[in-house]
Amino acid sequence: MAIEKPSCEHGVDERWILSASSDHKPVPTMSLAWGYGNNNGPLHWHEKFTIAKDGKRQSPIDIQTKEAQYDPNLQRRPIMVNYKSEMGMELENNGHSVKAQMKEKSELRGGPLEGTYLLEQFHLHWGAENGEGSEHTIDGNKYDAELHLVHYNSKYETFAKAADKPDGLAVFGFMVKVGKSNDGFEKISKDLGNVLVKGKKCNMADKFDPSCLFSDLTAYWTYAGSLTTPPLYESVTWIVFKKAVEISQEQMDSLRLLQDSEGKSIVNNYRPPLSVGDRVVNSSFS
Ligand SMILES: [Zn+2]
Repeated sequence: MAIEKPSCEHGVDERWILSASSDHKPVPTMSLAWGYGNNNGPLHWHEKFTIAKDGKRQSPIDIQTKEAQYDPNLQRRPIMVNYKSEMGMELENNGHSVKAQMKEKSELRGGPLEGTYLLEQFHLHWGAENGEGSEHTIDGNKYDAELHLVHYNSKYETFAKAADKPDGLAVFGFMVKVGKSNDGFEKISKDLGNVLVKGKKCNMADKFDPSCLFSDLTAYWTYAGSLTTPPLYESVTWIVFKKAVEISQEQMDSLRLLQDSEGKSIVNNYRPPLSVGDRVVNSSFS
């Protein structure tokens, strides 16, 4: 198995090499990239990333709101973001999603987190049609998409160093539902035509402050989890917000025009919920 250096999506590699080893014959090496299809989707990830099955804090999960435990400490330490406007923010189609890569040091602290985390990138997961697409589900309900803003703990120098540490990452998860148009998301949406093909990148013409994508940071659930894409590191403090973000149908559809490595539409790029096990989900509200 070869893993490239951390680069994309939640952080790391795209490619795994399967080699069928037989004793004396030359070994044909099949290269297969993980994805969301029948042959390389979430049900297969454990073949090369054993933590997919053996892990104790895998994500996403179904958040059962009645089971969540209210933690008054979370209310006493509100989540604070100090995001910077990005000039020429880079959008990339990485074959699994569209990823916006940060250059500025946008900060996050408070809530369940110790110390300061820095925004590394954000991206989305979505369905082929409305009614599915989110990774987390709330009392079994799927949303149309899910927005992830990935931060790393500043005590590690870089995202790559933080990516596999138990307290390395903090990810905001916003449920996304089709409804009214989202002015912040519109800036992304209108640039998606420049990154239709896998590997394409573009730099946005206007300044962009990622905090324009959401509003309310007070009500959320939090739990210890993992990356939701290979290598599925168990390094994420998840912060999943109660209030969904709305985008228009047109904005939703603009995501479905993106293409993967085979030229097919990127859709249903979400991992289904995993067992909560003995983890506790805390809430910032009662
Ligand atoms: Zn994600």
